[in-house]
Amino acid sequence: MTSGTTAPVLRVENLVRTFGGVKAVNGVSFEVMPGELKALIGPNGAGKSTCFNMLMGQLKPTAGKVFLKGEEITGKPPRAVWRRGVGRTFQITGTYQSMTVAENVQMALMSHHKRLFSILPHAYKVYREEAIELLDVVGMADQADRACAILAYGDLKRLELAIALSNNPHLLLMDEPTAGMAPKERINLMQLTADIVRDRGVSVLFTEHDMDVVFAHSHHIMVLNRGELIADGNVEEVRNNPKVQEVYLGGGTLYKQEPADA
Ligand code: ADP
Ligand code: MG
Repeated sequence: MTSGTTAPVLRVENLVRTFGGVKAVNGVSFEVMPGELKALIGPNGAGKSTCFNMLMGQLKPTAGKVFLKGEEITGKPPRAVWRRGVGRTFQITGTYQSMTVAENVQMALMSHHKRLFSILPHAYKVYREEAIELLDVVGMADQADRACAILAYGDLKRLELAIALSNNPHLLLMDEPTAGMAPKERINLMQLTADIVRDRGVSVLFTEHDMDVVFAHSHHIMVLNRGELIADGNVEEVRNNPKVQEVYLGGGTLYKQEPADA
């Protein structure tokens, strides 16, 4: 993962974003390597979402550069970033809710293959097999013909993951993918993500509140505080970093507390 000869999938140089007088992101630099599952953690308001939005093209950086597989993509619009192989989870809303699980993935595949949405009435037939394959990756193939509107929340999240994989991304960006999920579902979704990272060689950058999930599944962890990275290392390095402990848990320990009499 740290081989000097391997080129990073994502490289961020000195990224800055200000809102009025607020420096939401203030000189952030890091890399994500191929096949790496990397967490970006930090207190509320640290600048995590602002960072993500700049990587996905939704927000233009005030300064700094973003490179995808060596190509500069700074300030490119979301669609251009997506086309270059950056996947992200979209929330399924509106009309998409009335479609079936498979149809949602088929729509995403059509978009990836640049098929026009005008063939919508025929979407049922196009890319059906590929959609089922992707649904199988997230364990949803048996629910292919159910309407999205009736899915359990955790299943909807898995569907969103299948859709995010539809453009065969090098990099998946997941800002709070487990928001609103029960702890057990969180663990399951991140385990699924870790399996996908391993099996498909995709890199993932994600944010997550639950420290158990972060420590259990990340290869590397970055800690953002007040717009600045205060740590970037493996699980042990970040756990033992005094700055992280101070900022993150007010001097407490970042180790999971062992139950006294388990
Ligand atoms: P996090 O995702 O780590 O909780 P954010 O990136 O959402 O943090 O926010 C970082 C800081 O930037 C906060 O102070 C927030 O209020 C501010 N901020 C974020 N988005 C905007 C915006 N669109 N306009 C003004 N301030 C913003
Ligand atoms: Mg956020």
